[in-house]
Amino acid sequence: MPKDTNGVHFFNPAADNSDEETTAASPSSDVARPNPLDSAREYGMKTVDSELFDSGPFKKNFAFGNADHSTASPFEISTTPIEVNESRAHKTIEISNRDKPAPTTGEKPAKKKVEVAKDQKNRRMTVAHVNMGIANKGSTAVVGDDFWSPQNSEKKALKHRARLESQNDGCLSPSSLKSVLDEIQTEPRCKSPQHIDLHTFRDAVDVNYQRMAITGEELSGVPLEDLKTASGHLIEALHLRSKYMERIGNQFPSTTRNFLSGHYPANLPKHRVKNTETTVQTSFNPPDPPKDHWGKNDPLPKYEKIYHLRRNRGVTEICNDDGSIDQQFKNVNVTKEEFLNDTEKLTAMIVDGPLKSFCFRRLSYLENKFQLHVLLNELRELHEQKGVSHRDFYNIRKVDTHIHAASSMNQKHLLRFIKKKIKTEADTVVLNNNGTKVTMKEVFKKMGIDAYDLSVDMLDVHADRNTFHRFDKFNTKYNPVGESTLREIFIKTDNYVGGKYFADLLKEVLSDLEDSKYQHAEPRLSIYGRSKNEWDNLAKWALTHDVWSPNARWLVQIPRLYDVYRAKNMVKNFDDMLDNLFTPLFEVTNDPSSHPELHLFLQQISGIDSVDDESKHEFVNFDRSTPCPPEYTDLENPPYNYYLFYMYRNICALNAFRRARGLNTFALRPHCGEAGHVSHLLTGYLTSESIAHGILLRKVPVLQYLYYLTQIGIAMSPLSNNSLFISYQRNPLPEYLQKGLNVSLSTDDPLQFHYTKEALMEEFSIAAQVWKLSSCDMCELARNSVMQSGFEDKVKIHWLGPNYKEEGVLGNDIHRTNVPDIRVSFRHEALVDELYNLFRVQNTLKQ
Ligand SMILES: [Zn+2]
Repeated sequence: MPKDTNGVHFFNPAADNSDEETTAASPSSDVARPNPLDSAREYGMKTVDSELFDSGPFKKNFAFGNADHSTASPFEISTTPIEVNESRAHKTIEISNRDKPAPTTGEKPAKKKVEVAKDQKNRRMTVAHVNMGIANKGSTAVVGDDFWSPQNSEKKALKHRARLESQNDGCLSPSSLKSVLDEIQTEPRCKSPQHIDLHTFRDAVDVNYQRMAITGEELSGVPLEDLKTASGHLIEALHLRSKYMERIGNQFPSTTRNFLSGHYPANLPKHRVKNTETTVQTSFNPPDPPKDHWGKNDPLPKYEKIYHLRRNRGVTEICNDDGSIDQQFKNVNVTKEEFLNDTEKLTAMIVDGPLKSFCFRRLSYLENKFQLHVLLNELRELHEQKGVSHRDFYNIRKVDTHIHAASSMNQKHLLRFIKKKIKTEADTVVLNNNGTKVTMKEVFKKMGIDAYDLSVDMLDVHADRNTFHRFDKFNTKYNPVGESTLREIFIKTDNYVGGKYFADLLKEVLSDLEDSKYQHAEPRLSIYGRSKNEWDNLAKWALTHDVWSPNARWLVQIPRLYDVYRAKNMVKNFDDMLDNLFTPLFEVTNDPSSHPELHLFLQQISGIDSVDDESKHEFVNFDRSTPCPPEYTDLENPPYNYYLFYMYRNICALNAFRRARGLNTFALRPHCGEAGHVSHLLTGYLTSESIAHGILLRKVPVLQYLYYLTQIGIAMSPLSNNSLFISYQRNPLPEYLQKGLNVSLSTDDPLQFHYTKEALMEEFSIAAQVWKLSSCDMCELARNSVMQSGFEDKVKIHWLGPNYKEEGVLGNDIHRTNVPDIRVSFRHEALVDELYNLFRVQNTLKQ
């Protein structure tokens, strides 16, 4: 087959030079890349009209990943209703004129440039190869309805029209469904959803769009030997995460699990049909929460068996009276040796040359596949969205998956609040300075500030150009007017006024969220591990001030500050800190009456976060010689991985305990991959349900691919990164989104980074404008954020649909999420294809 009819050109000169360094380089490495247009010319693409190529919907460095992100993403078609209506009308005419030669439409030249829409003759050649099963060389075929084909018969045109109309209604009527099914049976190109020669998988038979499939022997562009070893390694890595997530009881995607268990690919569901009936009965809004939302009036649960708790090598053990570990809590944990072995295996993988190349190629493939998908199906996706009444980006649920409570208000809000309190509470005692009581008025008098003078500039809490790569400077921005006193008074839960002001401030933030109705947040509250009563104090604070909202679920963040407490002799070893952090949680699970308020408060906590500056140098290594927490008396801070591993171990044991008691469990959702060493991401891969930031994944293709295959949630905050670690236009978010990683948008610290009252909308707005995200992309990000969040199932079923846990398109309800079925279906099919490729190689090896 001549090169030009080969479908898509994944031309990659770097790959042809087989220069390891270049092929495996990260998609956004700083190395300048050759101009793809030059190489395109070299590679016999002279026929391409370069001017059109420049202005076309594809970015210039198509097939290269993004050397810089300032280039346009492929979302250029106008979305104004008039134009869309015009194009819709145009298409209807086109469909009914199929017998006539194709008119030259605006889209035609664009498609010609990337050679997707080859002329009909060539396409038929490809299809013929597919059907005859003789396509030995890989080629790309486009399946699904041929929107643009001029040569379809009148009969087909009618079918197409019927389908278009029904799609615009958002769902298929039974009669049109039947016609679609008939067509699938009669039309050879979509003959079978499981057409094995096409190596593609069809999620649901009634979701129609132009699919792409690779034909022929697929080797992913690497030698067979490399493919075999690569798939072996990757499957092993998937097994590892599956094991870790099972022990902690956190999420692991069912599609990947089914492949791992051997259930798929043999039993991949065929002929699935979307059932829209059951979703109608579920209301769009969760029922109103009870008045007593903390459950203060409910009696505390009483358990028959009270266990004996014992600290051993950095983890709490749940023992019977005779001192033996209870049977059901054995084997829930991972030992240090096991963890270090697994880490070594993964470390070897991420530096393995052929594996790096393989993953890089797969990721590039995914990115390009998405771009083609958008090119072919953008209008359909848009139509599907328009067909849904009432729902749009503003009234779909979105969760701010990463936000710190202490900085969840914006600077203007904090300023207004402080001014108000100076006026209304001037004589309230707010501090106890070594026995002398200080009133609010005196605090400000001492600083030489009066309420009128105070301005946002004076407050000086906003990040600016001086915080870039200066996490130390950034940390001081938490102190209004540079005074830790004001931080102590206004944004602490545990102070002289009992955290009253902070509670008031947070309640204003929460009430703003409730007003907006569709915005939700997962703010982090701090627990430090300096003493055992921190948890009780925090719970008491939350309950006394009633810091609660249906729009928020709390996470607890643990700063990695062992070295600070050790230097001040607040703890003697690392286990003291872990003991302070976790023992109260075990105690309250064992016997709720031991900490009644904590018991209620914990039901509103969905996860635990680990925070601090990741770029700090780590003086200690985590290896077999690193002492266990009780023996860790070093003055230096233990490394990130050490922290995370021991948090993971304790949460494992705690979750097992709480599950046995029928209580809610916790997810580990640390800050990870914001800066520092890439091994943080590796530990995150093993131990964490989802991570915040993950921007360093751009440098590690193997891990990035694994994060894709296991769909680990990544809460990204490009505005925060822009002030601290990577400028906005270089942020990898759009790249991750295109590849299909499970990313969401979050704000991190509105106090430092945002200007408006709706910080999450500001974040979405900037991302949408800079990266030209379509409404469909934004809704997908919003849906991801709800999926990643720690809100309970009983709430999520109202926001996403009762079947939201189903794989693929059956889990989507466009009437709630506004994400087109086409997009969800594409994502699921792409994931299944990737997994299928990996497991197919292993299965053939076995035979
Ligand atoms: Zn953060």
